[in-house]
Amino acid sequence: TTTVVWLRDDLRLADNPALRHAADDGDVVVLYVLDEASAGVRSLGGAARWWLHHSLAALGAAVEAAGARLVLRRGAAIEVVPAVIQDARADAVVWNRRYGGPEREIDAAVKTWAGEHDVEAHSFAANLLHEPWTITTGAGEPFQVYSPFLRACQRAEEPRDPLPAVRRLAGPDVASDDLDEWGLHPSAPDWSAGLAEAWEPGETGATRRLTQFVDGILDGYDASRERPGVEGTSRLSPHLRFGEVSPFQVRAAVAGASPREDRDAFLSEIHWREFNWHLLYANPDLATVNHRAKFDGMRWRRSPGDLRAWQRGRTGYPLVDAGMRQLWQTGWMHNRVRMITASFLIKNLLIDWRAGEQWFWDTLVDADAANNPANWQWTAGSGADAFPYVRVFNPVTQGRKFDADGSYITRFVPELAGRDGSALHEPWDHDPPADYPEPMVDLRRTRRRALAAYDDIGASG
Ligand code: FAD
Repeated sequence: TTTVVWLRDDLRLADNPALRHAADDGDVVVLYVLDEASAGVRSLGGAARWWLHHSLAALGAAVEAAGARLVLRRGAAIEVVPAVIQDARADAVVWNRRYGGPEREIDAAVKTWAGEHDVEAHSFAANLLHEPWTITTGAGEPFQVYSPFLRACQRAEEPRDPLPAVRRLAGPDVASDDLDEWGLHPSAPDWSAGLAEAWEPGETGATRRLTQFVDGILDGYDASRERPGVEGTSRLSPHLRFGEVSPFQVRAAVAGASPREDRDAFLSEIHWREFNWHLLYANPDLATVNHRAKFDGMRWRRSPGDLRAWQRGRTGYPLVDAGMRQLWQTGWMHNRVRMITASFLIKNLLIDWRAGEQWFWDTLVDADAANNPANWQWTAGSGADAFPYVRVFNPVTQGRKFDADGSYITRFVPELAGRDGSALHEPWDHDPPADYPEPMVDLRRTRRRALAAYDDIGASG
């Protein structure tokens, strides 16, 4: 048999059921398609394109070391995948499943084509611990609330152990594009130095990160994950996003780790990822449509100038600015600071969550179709199991609590270096540096304005 293995968000040789199945079965063609042509598929943001470039370079080297060649093609998958199957004279095509609406339609169309052309097609579960249709309420509906969802996952069939890596591959030679010509890597200007310093895309980097986490950071995770100034979380999110490591591998690596509360806190975050993907599966429009319809009546402000100040980290609120600059420089932001910066945009600036979601989509290396919109809707209060809308984060109080010594703020806002206490957290009252902006809004007044706007749409009901 010759099988085309169509890789997508699963750029790894270990724990890859589709690849494993094909390699056990005979000859293999490993294919990646850059699909920016199919209807409904959202083009990757700039930071994610950078990541993809390097991840594919790493994958190409690993496939070559195993004895084959990674085939790269560009175009609408419903045309490209059949063309590669025909070029390779393959009898079968396999892939690991995706859960977004347009992606599922494409996969179904390829499956139909295969059926009509006497080509076998098989799909596998690889990127979620539980398939969305297996975790439902008693009434067979998708969960809208996280805690019962988590309990249902814990009661469900235990996720499988990870599969061993594929080490030997053989197959026919098929023409491939040149990765460098895809233009995923930024040029003119190349703004990616900060990303390259922070990350090692690819399966080797993912494995290294997971080992570092399990051997060190996991101990104490439950407390240190709230402190953006320390390396207290796994930073696995972009590796999970591109499937350089699977949740099955992550789960197996932390099994048995102690202390138990740290492991449980970490696994609970992994299940937020699951919850959001299940939510997207049930709601393909998650990035564009308010999950709670009454939010359609919300009177958001339109202010390109305010949006830009937020994007650039020039709001005058040190913790917000530090977060937005961390995002711009490194392609990632600490979770607590994501919540605070998102709350600031939505509540203090009263700007539509979709504008923030789009900025994160463009700048995060871990941006994905489920977790980004779901977390934005959660913060806005328009989402499933949303954050109580009456809670408006105060960035000054949050900074004092979670970055008391300012190690995070001063790393990304050098204008405030050497300051502490009020001079750091409320610089406007203490001989403010000339090059640091004045606060762009009054926190108390804008909080009241937000609560009034939420009341107007009856958000509490
Ligand atoms: P850890 O604390 O080590 O957690 C381990 C893993 O659990 C993460 O890698 C991630 O896969 C998952 N996880 C952790 N927190 C969450 C969460 N709140 N929701 C869903 N999964 C979670 N995460 C993304 O992966 N992609 C996004 O596009 C994304 N956008 C976000 C936007 C906003 C406004 C907010 C508030 C959060 C967003 N998150 C997103 C969730 C979270 O901030 C990141 O997953 C986390 O910061 C990644 O860092 P880590 O790997 O060190 O996390």
